[in-house]
Amino acid sequence: MLTSVAEPIVRPRPAYRSFRAEVARAERLSPHFVRVTFGGAELVDFGTAGLDQRVKLVFPHAEHGFADFPDGDDWYRAWRELPAERRNVFRTYTVRAVRPELAEVDVDFALHGDLGPASAWAARAAAGDELIIIGPDERSPERTIGIDFRPGAVDTVLLAGDETAAPAICAILAQLPADAAGAALIEVPSDADVLPVAAPAGVEVRWLARSGADAVHGERLVPAVRDWVARATTPTDGADASDAPEDAPASVAALDAAEAADADDAPLWDVPEGRSLDGACYAWLAGEASVITALRRFLVRDAGLDRRQVAFMGYWRRGRAELE
Ligand SMILES: Cc1cc2nc3c(=O)[nH]c(=O)nc-3n(C[C@H](O)[C@H](O)[C@H](O)COP(=O)(O)OP(=O)(O)OC[C@H]3O[C@@H](n4cnc5c(N)ncnc54)[C@H](O)[C@@H]3O)c2cc1C
Repeated sequence: MLTSVAEPIVRPRPAYRSFRAEVARAERLSPHFVRVTFGGAELVDFGTAGLDQRVKLVFPHAEHGFADFPDGDDWYRAWRELPAERRNVFRTYTVRAVRPELAEVDVDFALHGDLGPASAWAARAAAGDELIIIGPDERSPERTIGIDFRPGAVDTVLLAGDETAAPAICAILAQLPADAAGAALIEVPSDADVLPVAAPAGVEVRWLARSGADAVHGERLVPAVRDWVARATTPTDGADASDAPEDAPASVAALDAAEAADADDAPLWDVPEGRSLDGACYAWLAGEASVITALRRFLVRDAGLDRRQVAFMGYWRRGRAELE
């Protein structure tokens, strides 16, 4: 008679999991950027794929710390089932750098005041503060699922975003091949927020400082994208970018008008797999949602880029906290 021995059930390692971490140090890089370096033994297994890899940062509950935060793969469902007053707040951020040999992870926070819990936490972060990172596990075959920069083989890359996208753009620039060509256009709150960044010689990096406290997001980024497109791209459908229609978004006021009608319904995120096309440009856009969706519309509708060559990500939305 044959007897069978029960095989152990081997479950695939989850691509993302929670890492207990604490602040090793916090460095003010500029008036509106603080780099928080997280440490902790668990971070030796933190994913190193880089580029624009996103993570969730879970902040301590004012009374209960992390006592109620669910462990395990199913943490999100379990978190949703908690009473609202027991839930930890979490927000989405980008891995700026990983040093597995030191079990360290850097996250660069754009500070925007105390209205947002993440910004308020980062402004006061100090060595020893605890936090949970939901991030990639280096040992998982799917460790790159949180990466949206997927250009395929193209001739030119356009990276454009505001200060919340600056960490992703800087991380992407550091990993581009030496012969890459294109531009990185990064809008920041002030001249003092320009950060040091390494980029291939063929990639023009422009930091675009807004004009002051009353300035609006997009006021420098939108004209800079239009200017770069007029100079650099070859439209794929016969449109001439330097001859864009009069209603193309040239200013934030025009963007606002164009977006106001459908801002609530407009899609905020689309990350196509870039197609490998000779002569093509791949555009990666991230930042305040209305600015980014309007830029994408400009690139696709007016500048003639193939929509499958444009990744756009609404990283945050004016007047709204991040959805949870
Ligand atoms: C994939 C991804 C990656 C991201 N990476 C980073 C990153 O590396 N660094 C980073 O700083 N941000 C990053 N962001 C943006 C960040 O998640 C949002 O700015 C988030 O809303 C901040 O949370 P909060 O608790 O401070 O504010 P919330 O509680 O979410 O919002 C409170 C209020 O502040 C406003 N607000 C939010 N962010 C800003 C801002 N930057 N400037 C002005 N007003 C704002 C909101 O509209 C709202 O009115 C990323 C977002 C995504 C989706």
